[in-house]
Amino acid sequence: MHGLGRDDRVILLTSPMTSMRICWLNGEFVAEDSAKISIFDRGVLFGDGIYEVAAVVNGRLLDADLHLVRLTRSLAAVGIAMVQSAAAWLEIMQTLATRNGIVEGLVYLQVTRGVAEREFPFPANVPPTMFAYARPKALTNDPNAVGVRAHVVPDLRWARRDIKSTSLLAQVLAKQAARAAGAFEAIMHDEGIVTEGGSSTIWIVQHGTLVTRPLSNDILAGITRDVTLQLAAALKRPVVERAFTLDEALDAEECFLTSATSLVLPITQIDDRNIGSGQPGPVTAALRDAYIARAIELTTAPVLAVSA
Ligand code: PMP
Repeated sequence: MHGLGRDDRVILLTSPMTSMRICWLNGEFVAEDSAKISIFDRGVLFGDGIYEVAAVVNGRLLDADLHLVRLTRSLAAVGIAMVQSAAAWLEIMQTLATRNGIVEGLVYLQVTRGVAEREFPFPANVPPTMFAYARPKALTNDPNAVGVRAHVVPDLRWARRDIKSTSLLAQVLAKQAARAAGAFEAIMHDEGIVTEGGSSTIWIVQHGTLVTRPLSNDILAGITRDVTLQLAAALKRPVVERAFTLDEALDAEECFLTSATSLVLPITQIDDRNIGSGQPGPVTAALRDAYIARAIELTTAPVLAVSA
């Protein structure tokens, strides 16, 4: 994919998929319409599962190793076995991207506690259900890079938001409320203190300093958050990890979100209030540029041959 310019990639991304998507389910690559699971799957019955989403850029996975570290942590936190290695997952994820012709997009994977009669406690000796799929999405040329609107909602979630659980009803409601309000993302808060976005980490820029909430059980440890912290350090941009209020976000010079499939996106409006000038600010733009430059560098670097 070395020869592709930005515009070529957009055309590839927006062209319809010509053939049926290949998914992966419990050890096999299967066509989308035969990737079926049981109504007794605990993922269906209880949302008893863990998921991950990693970006694909230039046809290659971005930071998928970090997503698999988080998968391992989430599974351990809820007592679901990690029955295949990170290396096996990486190969499946890359194969899905390649076989489905994904140049830019994402790979989604899910592990549930498996299929059993509906009883709340864990079933004995039941293998986890595992599946994954890929889909295209514009990342480096995201039209939302011009700035998005966010809508404020109360955070209705449970107390272990650090676990990437498939029990996402609170986020479904938050993001639907955002959409109904004409916004791209929900900003969730606990009594006026920002927790995170519906599916993203929220940041503000105050007096030139980046502010984002410290890691705890209250938020997901975003992989994009981690990389953005490294890029901010490389750009010599001061960062403070502390909780901040909605009022601080409204009064900030800049506000932005990070996530694996949005990278760094400016939030230029929160409900009816412009943030800063109402245009993407220079700090956000520099971080987005740095994020994209890093993504392109990592996904165009030669793959090191592993000697036998
Ligand atoms: N917080 C929440 C609630 C999320 O759903 C996500 C997206 N998975 C994030 C933060 C960002 O995480 P990441 O950067 O790893 O995509």
